[in-house]
Amino acid sequence: MEDFAKEDEKYIAHTYSRQPLLLVEGKGAIVKDKKGRSYIDCFSGIAVNSVGHCHPKVVSAIQRQSKRLIHTSNIYYTEPQIKLAGLLNKISGGYQSFLCNSGAEANEAAIKLVRKFTKKNEIIAAENSFHGRTLATLSATGQFKYQQGFAPLLRGFKHVPFGDSEPIKSAITDDTAAVLLEPIQGEGGIVVPPDGYFEEVAGLCKDEDVLLVLDEVQTGFGRTGEMFAWQGYGIEPDIFTVAKALGGGMPIGAMLAKKHVMSAFGLGDHASTFGGNPVACAAAAASIEALMDEELVKRSKEMGEHFSQKLEKLKSKYSFIRDVRGKGLMIGMELDFPCQGIVDKAREKGILLNCVHGNVLRFTPPLNIERELIDQVAISLDFIFSEGAL
Ligand code: PLP
Repeated sequence: MEDFAKEDEKYIAHTYSRQPLLLVEGKGAIVKDKKGRSYIDCFSGIAVNSVGHCHPKVVSAIQRQSKRLIHTSNIYYTEPQIKLAGLLNKISGGYQSFLCNSGAEANEAAIKLVRKFTKKNEIIAAENSFHGRTLATLSATGQFKYQQGFAPLLRGFKHVPFGDSEPIKSAITDDTAAVLLEPIQGEGGIVVPPDGYFEEVAGLCKDEDVLLVLDEVQTGFGRTGEMFAWQGYGIEPDIFTVAKALGGGMPIGAMLAKKHVMSAFGLGDHASTFGGNPVACAAAAASIEALMDEELVKRSKEMGEHFSQKLEKLKSKYSFIRDVRGKGLMIGMELDFPCQGIVDKAREKGILLNCVHGNVLRFTPPLNIERELIDQVAISLDFIFSEGAL
C-alpha cells in the first residue's frame, strides 16, 4: 500500500472504496497523478466536471470572487447568488431556485417542499433509484443495499418499477403528494426508460393532481444532450433538483420549482448556512456560461453518438457485452460479468472509468472531451477485452 493510502486509512472514515491513485491536477478531460502520469477522465468526478477540469472561466470566477467575498449569511443579498439564480431561471424556462450544497440536500429540500405544498406525505419513487445518502433521500432511494443498517427510515415512500407508468397509477392514493424519478437512472446502471414513459407519467400526475419531481442531479447541465433531461422528454416537472455539474467542480446544489409551488416555502421554512455561497455561485454561473458559449449541450449529443457508436462496435465484437445504452455523454456498457476488473485494467492503461450496479461500465466524460480521446478509449477497451483474461 502506498504511503498516501496508509495516511488516508489512518485519518479518514473508511466509507469509500478508493482506487490507488493520488490525483493532483487536471485540465479538460485529462487528470494527472502525483507521479506525473496522465489519465483520460471518463468519470469526471461522477458526472461533475462537465466543462472539463479547471475550466479557465470557472477558475477565474473563483479567483475573482474569492478575493472579494468568500462567505456571508443568507440574510444578506449577494451578487453571485442573484446572477446564478437568474441564469437557472433562464435556462429552465422560469423556475425559481433554493440553493444548497449537494444533490442529497437538493432532494431533501424537494421532499420538504412537496409536503408543505400538498400537505400530504406519500411519495412514489422508483425501484433501483438513487437519490442520496441523508436519511430522507436514502428512504427515497429504491435500493436496499444503501439502506441496510440505517433503519428506521423515513415513512411515506413507496417504490414501483421504473419505466412503466401503470404501477405508478396503481400506487397513487388520496395521500399521494408526488412522484419522484430520475430521468435516467444513473447509479442504478444507466437505465433509460422507454419512449413515452415520462409523457405518460407527467399526464398521470396532472390528472391525479400529484406533483412530478425529477432528480436531475446526475443528468443535468447537458449530460444527456439536453440542458435538462426533461426538456428532451417534452414535459415540465413541478420541481427538479440539480447538483454535480452545476458548480463546474465546486460543491453546490439547487432545488428548482415552479413559482406557485415554491411559494409554499415561507420565511424560515428552509435554510442552509452555506447554500448559495458566493464563490460556489460564481463558479456555477461561469460554468453555465461556458456550457452555453461553447455549445457543450449540443456537443454532448454529438460526442455521445460518436462514443456510443464506438462502444456498439465493441459490442458486436465481444459477446460478453450485453448492452450499450444512454443518452448524450451518459453512457453505460453492461457486461455479463462484474466490471471492477475492467475498471482496474483501464486505469493501468490511463483511463478513468467506474462501474455501477456491479456489471455496468459508466462513461461520463467532460462534455468537451476531444473526439481523439474517445477514440483512444475505445481502442484501449478493445485491447483490454481482447486480452480475454477477465
Ligand atoms: N441524486 C442522484 C440522481 C445522484 O446520482 C446522486 C449522487 O450520485 C445524488 C442524488 C446525491 O448527490 P450528492 O452526492 O451530491 O449528495
